[in-house]
Amino acid sequence: MNILISDPIDEQAVKELGKFCNLLRKGEEEKADIVIVRSRTVIDRAYVNKAKNLKMIIRAGVGLDNIRDIEYCRKKGIRIDHTPEASSVAVAELALGHMIAIARKIPVTTKDKRKCEWRREDLVGFELCGKTLGIIGLGRIGKEVAKRAEPFGMIILAYDPYITSSKYKMVELQNLLKHSDIISLHVPLNEKTRYLLDKKEFKMIKKGAVLINTSRGDVINENELVRNLKSGKISFAGLDVYSERLIRNSSMKKMDNVILTPHIGAQTIEAKERIGKAIIEKVKNFQKEFEGK
Ligand code: NAD
Repeated sequence: MNILISDPIDEQAVKELGKFCNLLRKGEEEKADIVIVRSRTVIDRAYVNKAKNLKMIIRAGVGLDNIRDIEYCRKKGIRIDHTPEASSVAVAELALGHMIAIARKIPVTTKDKRKCEWRREDLVGFELCGKTLGIIGLGRIGKEVAKRAEPFGMIILAYDPYITSSKYKMVELQNLLKHSDIISLHVPLNEKTRYLLDKKEFKMIKKGAVLINTSRGDVINENELVRNLKSGKISFAGLDVYSERLIRNSSMKKMDNVILTPHIGAQTIEAKERIGKAIIEKVKNFQKEFEGK
């Protein structure tokens, strides 16, 4: 099997794959039987047309939004697979990390450390205990967030139109936005979730709420986010995912009420290992199946 690993994955997994597959370099797409991508490589129609031997795409991670034409891949008989379970805990822990960092003003204290000029009276934070956490999208990651937030003493509300029953209190989006002190997004990006939080929804949000996004940038209308951060309607945002546009936004650069992490949700040793192992298993199974034909 010829494999093209188009985005970085666990080094051990690369070594392991190299033992039983021929590893290709970027630019050798036309020879690839399997392409492995994370979120960076975009697989569109042009890519598929170029990769004439392609039989399988493995997305190391969850979201399939960078596989732009899934229907076209299917028509061409290309299988699409991913490793959905492997990074849920890592992303959930990062979302909680953003919450704690914001609640206790950790980014500010870290920044001031360089100057050794702390003003402790400016560093009064708040406790997560007793606060209402609104989880939008109660899937794998959303549930892991809820499971960890509950022992912190948080009151959990969740909105997910595709879940009919849950141990958590399911509410309509409007109610979640109105009552949550912290809102955390865990939906996939698709045509229904693009701009799920737009002007109308921002108006419904409780004044001073915190917004955490570890899902995809385009789930939020970022212009509205910037406007609401400036007005104080959103007191703080913790974002792991966002567009290039948002980083280039000059007013955003001056804002102290945003923490940005560079899409590191799944970047833990454990998640990378799990993803690597899952990929090896998928490649081996595919190879067996293919050779058996
Ligand atoms: P999942 O499919 O298990 O859960 C998504 C949930 O969202 C589902 O329960 C679904 O019913 C719900 N949902 C779908 N449309 C909705 C809508 N319109 N409103 C409310 N809920 C809706 O996926 P997951 O494994 O929990 O991952 C969620 C997303 O997190 C991924 O699609 C990906 O974009 C993102 N993610 C980010 C990172 C990162 O590094 N930051 C890593 C992994 C995944």
